[in-house]
Amino acid sequence: MDRKVVELAAKELIRQNSGIELIASENYPSIDVREAAGSIFTCKYAEGFPGRRYYGGCEVVDELENLCIERCKALFNVAYANVQPHSGSQANYAAYRALIASGAKVLSLALNDGGHLTHGSPVSFSANTYNFVHYDLGGDGHLDMDIIAKRLDEENPDLFLAGYSAYPFAIDFKKMRELIDAHNAKTGGHCLFMVDMAHIAGQVAAGKCQNPCDYADLVTSTTHKTLRGPRGGLILTNRLDLVKKIDSAVFPFSQGGPLEHIIAAKATAFLEASRPEFKVYFDHVLENTKACNDELARLGRVVSGTDNHLFLLNVLASYRINGLEAQNRLESIGITANKNMIHGDTLSPKYTSGLRLGFAAVSSRGCTKEQAIEIAHIIDDALINPEADLDALKARVAKEVVADWEDISCLTY
Ligand SMILES: *Cc1c(COP(=O)(O)O)cnc(C)c1O
Repeated sequence: MDRKVVELAAKELIRQNSGIELIASENYPSIDVREAAGSIFTCKYAEGFPGRRYYGGCEVVDELENLCIERCKALFNVAYANVQPHSGSQANYAAYRALIASGAKVLSLALNDGGHLTHGSPVSFSANTYNFVHYDLGGDGHLDMDIIAKRLDEENPDLFLAGYSAYPFAIDFKKMRELIDAHNAKTGGHCLFMVDMAHIAGQVAAGKCQNPCDYADLVTSTTHKTLRGPRGGLILTNRLDLVKKIDSAVFPFSQGGPLEHIIAAKATAFLEASRPEFKVYFDHVLENTKACNDELARLGRVVSGTDNHLFLLNVLASYRINGLEAQNRLESIGITANKNMIHGDTLSPKYTSGLRLGFAAVSSRGCTKEQAIEIAHIIDDALINPEADLDALKARVAKEVVADWEDISCLTY
């Protein structure tokens, strides 16, 4: 036994069990998903795809990967799924490769408004390989379809990218498709439409928002955020003419052997997400997020509002502190969240004016609406008074909220 690693895992379980996890990109997969991720499939090399592998002995992993693909296609009502990307970033890497040439122009959301590193950040491969230009949000922080239409015509991009990391509102993928089609018809352009649904994949699977697969040429995702699977990525499309390009962009272009143990865990997560219980779970996520947002608004704080699993709290406007300070203060009482830029932020990304608060993880542990409201009060009490008794607040987190919740090590859904 590796005492050191076992000890660290036990320590991490205590950390996770004793805190309120409000990081919007995190969640707790079931014990079944975690067992599949630790299964015997980790031993198998299977470069290639089911039925066309570069190794022998792949008859069982072929069955496994096909099962995963079929469940994924049914869940998202889509014609093709590649379940091999090791992460969301890897999925985006392969997706760009499949859709556009090096140097091609991509129109994406300005990063400080809630995009992802792989959506054109100078520190990511994306901005080094492709020419990223951006669209802004409207003055109220919502996507503005007039701005998008104008930017399409101004930039004439090869690819339009939607899907974000810190955007709390519904996204009208149907309208985006119409704008791109209108732009292409008017200019003779060939702009493609890609959606990165990493954050909202669970909401899509639950049928609680528009399904981008119905409108985009290609959709990428993570599997470990609201979808509640293992850490990983995937690529979906209804464009069967793109299938060869997507497959070869994943393997052999950007990855080697697939993680068949993670594909096993993805298969289990897709099964769980297809059950009626997952829709009920997502109703709780949406209800809890809104309850916390609305309670902070009722107390007079500046919040974004929400149509999904997250919202933004403007801590500079609400409490005269920056996002980093707020993050640290909450961390000291057992609430994990992350600082985040707010639309039109006057502070740098290192400090930020906001906090991003998400309820996908706590809802998996059984957080109720009343507890989501209590969490709003604890956050408010911790941030409003620089002299707040942090020990007392920490005790309140443990006693009044976390004590009622499920142990993360044995969650079943
Ligand atoms: C989280 C996220 C990713 C990247 O996922 P990793 O698995 O961390 O690489 C990509 N795009 C968006 C929009 C995300 O929120």
